[in-house]
Amino acid sequence: MVCKKRAKAIKSIEDRLKSNIKIVLLESVGNPGLRLPDIKKITDLCKKYETLLVIDNTTTPILVQPLNLGADIVVHSSTKNMSGHSAALGGVAVFRRVNETNEKLLNHKYEDLHSIIEKAGKKSLIVICKKRALRDIGMSANAFGSFLTLLGLETLGLKIRRVNESVAKIAKVLDKKLPKHIVVNHPSLAKSIDLENYNKFFKNGCGPIFTIDAQTQKSAFELLDNLLLATQTANIGDNRTLALHMKSTIYRDFDEKSRKFLGIADGLIRVSVGLEDPQDITNDFLKATTGESYALKLTDDII
Ligand SMILES: *Cc1c(COP(=O)(O)O)cnc(C)c1O
Repeated sequence: MVCKKRAKAIKSIEDRLKSNIKIVLLESVGNPGLRLPDIKKITDLCKKYETLLVIDNTTTPILVQPLNLGADIVVHSSTKNMSGHSAALGGVAVFRRVNETNEKLLNHKYEDLHSIIEKAGKKSLIVICKKRALRDIGMSANAFGSFLTLLGLETLGLKIRRVNESVAKIAKVLDKKLPKHIVVNHPSLAKSIDLENYNKFFKNGCGPIFTIDAQTQKSAFELLDNLLLATQTANIGDNRTLALHMKSTIYRDFDEKSRKFLGIADGLIRVSVGLEDPQDITNDFLKATTGESYALKLTDDII
């Protein structure tokens, strides 16, 4: 069933690509639905139809290396994992080495830039980005914001390892121990329809997020109000564990149909696991849900 659905999704992507699509934007991990794409199949299709592939790797820096997998451009929100705080808003775009004659990078509207692009060689996409995006939209990073981001970046490798080890453990225990009507979702769980892609493309984890569906908005609010350790705020990839009700915040101005399409259920809470002791994080959610402190030893309970 899952295989059939996936084959259908890939076929519909291919059908779209046949109609001269210029650019595909792929999130390495669906946020907050946690659907994991078959990165290899989509990359191969983009190559076949010469479509520019941009991968948003915000959720999985280091864990997924899109340029090695065949993407053309990788973008990150540095407000998330890279900084480990939301004290400075920022973004990063990384470009692969390009073949200057590659048609998919050129645009007749900017013909006057083509000679600059060609001269820039492997940096040509950066020229496009600067001359078009920065000129037209006008964004640039301020000095203090850049300083804060770079401080966070120094410890990115350590943070990624810690968080990704914690997420899978926490999701596993909560899936077992929370009352049955509360549904935990993470691609590493045996019940997940994304387990196959998780094992294939995300060997060291798929980022800081797992979700809890408390079924109703009321019980989601109760759960959130009972949390002592997790902070209710809208970032992900923060050093602190964050929890947020999706429908009443980020998706409050989406209509019912769009929310359904995106998997935003009434009781959906997105959790972004931070650097705290995974045992403390687990106990915070157990206590908030059941009122009891299990004082679980993660190692005992999982293995
Ligand atoms: C938050 C987020 C963005 C946008 O980042 P900002 O820093 O808020 O502009 C883009 N992609 C993903 C996957 C995100 O989580």
